[in-house]
Amino acid sequence: KLLEADALWKEDFGDQMSSGSGRGQPHLVKQTVGKQVTMEKLIGKGRFGEVWRGKWRGEDVAVKTFSSREETSYKQESEMYNTILLRHDNILGFCAADTIGINSTTQHLLIMHYHRNGSLYDYLQSSDIDVEDMLILAHSAAAGLAHLHEEILEGGGCRVKPSIAHRDIKSKNILVKDNGQCCIGDLGHAIRNDSHEESEEKTKPAAKASTSLWCFKESNQTDGNDSLPSDTESKTASEPVKLLVGTKRYMAPEVLNGELNPAFFESFKRVDVYAFGLVLWEIAKRARPYADLYHPPFWDVVPHDPTLEDMKKVVVDEGQRPPIPNQWETDPLMCDIARMMCECWSHQPSARLTILRVKKNLHRKLKVMGHNASRGGKFTGGEKKLIHCN
Ligand code: ADP
Ligand code: MG
Ligand code: MG
Repeated sequence: KLLEADALWKEDFGDQMSSGSGRGQPHLVKQTVGKQVTMEKLIGKGRFGEVWRGKWRGEDVAVKTFSSREETSYKQESEMYNTILLRHDNILGFCAADTIGINSTTQHLLIMHYHRNGSLYDYLQSSDIDVEDMLILAHSAAAGLAHLHEEILEGGGCRVKPSIAHRDIKSKNILVKDNGQCCIGDLGHAIRNDSHEESEEKTKPAAKASTSLWCFKESNQTDGNDSLPSDTESKTASEPVKLLVGTKRYMAPEVLNGELNPAFFESFKRVDVYAFGLVLWEIAKRARPYADLYHPPFWDVVPHDPTLEDMKKVVVDEGQRPPIPNQWETDPLMCDIARMMCECWSHQPSARLTILRVKKNLHRKLKVMGHNASRGGKFTGGEKKLIHCN
């Protein structure tokens, strides 16, 4: 009987029967996911493959595809989504992962919640937002990132959820939900802190990759405004590695100049906060009444497809940051938002705000506006007013 079943499976799934997670029933359940998905429209193209809008069990879903060559990226990203206690309103919802065989090739699929507004980058180009929308977008994105960064310990001190650094924060990797809140997506470069934290001072001399971290060497490949590939051969604990991970336009000064201390996990969180500052600027620039056309950060000082050298010159050598519009100076709320972004993108990583602090500051502003941030609704009554902050 088992052999018969095996033969039937072989007919259905060919070579995959002899690889992967074994044979028999569990395999059947896993394989079924891929068979249940239909792909309807191509909605995104990234470094590792495509993102499709599709249907799974009657629901709209986003399907991220990876070719067999990108198996490592697929595994890394699906493992990250499987981190215990990762689920959060402001982190892209994960449904399932599967590997399917099409003719003789293998394709890996990540099935995620679908958001028809697309990425924050797309949304900001076309949407008309006011200051309340701005605060909702920014606060929810900060809440998602704060949840990633947060380490959750059990009463006994046992780590339940590890701290996670995203390492590719940018408006294209944040999605906008129907309720106007953001969720953080694309965990393809994320790393977990599974080791015991050391102090910054203790880890300084050994500026080497910790064994628990995935570290990648510099790559010569350029791919426009998009993420650098993860060089899977260079995961190593012993040789000093350049931690050039993420998208060049959003890279923090310490990443560009190679001064990041990878043995101190907090360094990676600070890199995320730097990039978050740029995202905050992108959002705020689009808010009425001062709304300007959408521009990516550094649009005026680096080429469309900047090199690392272009970015280093502007961000490290010249210390440039996106310009703060003059009109904001007379508006207390925008003034505060401007200060917050500056405290996120500070040159000195230790001087940056934590994302938890950013989240709390934004939450306070939403509360003053009469918005119930935790409930996610846009208005909870009361008139909209600008806030007076010092
Ligand atoms: P990559 O790792 O290749 O950069 P992403 O996960 O960032 O892939 O997705 C690429 C693009 O696809 C995003 O910038 C966004 O425009 C679109 N996209 C991704 N996930 C979703 C989703 N769940 N809903 C709607 N659009 C999505
Ligand atoms: Mg992406
Ligand atoms: Mg990616």
